[in-house]
Amino acid sequence: MTAGRFAPSPTGELHVGNLRTAILAWLFAHSTGRQFLLRVEDLDRVRAGAEETQLAELAAVGLSWDGEVTRQSQRRLHYDDAVSRLRRDGLLFECFCTRRDVAEAASAPHVLPGHYPGTCRDVPEAERMAARRVRPAALRLRTDVGQFEVHDVLHGRYTGAVDDFVVVRNDGVPAYNLAVVVDDAEQAIDQVVRGDDLLTSAPRQAYLGSLLGLPPVEYAHVPLALNPERRRLAKRDGAVTLEALAAEGWEASAVSAVILRSLGLPDSSLEAALSVFDPSRLPREPWIVDPSHLSSTDAAPVRPNR
Ligand code: GLU
Repeated sequence: MTAGRFAPSPTGELHVGNLRTAILAWLFAHSTGRQFLLRVEDLDRVRAGAEETQLAELAAVGLSWDGEVTRQSQRRLHYDDAVSRLRRDGLLFECFCTRRDVAEAASAPHVLPGHYPGTCRDVPEAERMAARRVRPAALRLRTDVGQFEVHDVLHGRYTGAVDDFVVVRNDGVPAYNLAVVVDDAEQAIDQVVRGDDLLTSAPRQAYLGSLLGLPPVEYAHVPLALNPERRRLAKRDGAVTLEALAAEGWEASAVSAVILRSLGLPDSSLEAALSVFDPSRLPREPWIVDPSHLSSTDAAPVRPNR
């Protein structure tokens, strides 16, 4: 059976925007007969206790998932295997550039902003040996396309740039773009629902998947939650986590109801929302969250304890 998933990075509490994405991932998966998996993306920054908190928050808004929670930190063998295959196929090269090197070289007129300018692509072995003594190498993908097309349920056909991106960081840790592709395929995940800030990463990931011979996935990049200044919602914007809202008298079920209403769905339960869920009717605009408004007006009809 195939699956959809939610894949949080355990860096802190989830805010209402993250919870909304999780609820959407659950709705997309279950409305298409898929399982719903939860994967903790803990290769990078991790805050102690954040995983437990996030799992409790997801459960509190009514979500449950199939099988055990998986953790990327326990899946290194899968990433190592993919790296060996890419290396065997001559698809990796060592890169000794610092962030600053890349930023400076990438400001040249012929390089797309933010893209790797190819500095280390064809460095002779003698030079690479010398460079290895100075700093460890990251491994980058030797790409032979400038762009790649993906299919997204909400965005249609989307073509985005693909550069020689990093697949193993110079501290030996698999990069996000590699881990996510390997995990999704290995876990039989063929539906990726996540915030639309990651839409531009999808072509890189899909291209890497094609090099590894993996089946393509269906994407749904959903609108983010923004603050009233239209910047990405953050904890500093006010009471936007379950914990902060609980301190103002909110039950988690009331938060869940507000999220479902923001999606134009019935707010009595996730199951009620699932029974009428239709991706084509989802709002395409960001969800503007004004914490002061959320705690006074929106909450009033559903807020218990007050
Ligand atoms: N772990 C990523 C995040 O929390 C999401 C990755 C993904 O869904 O592909 O932003």
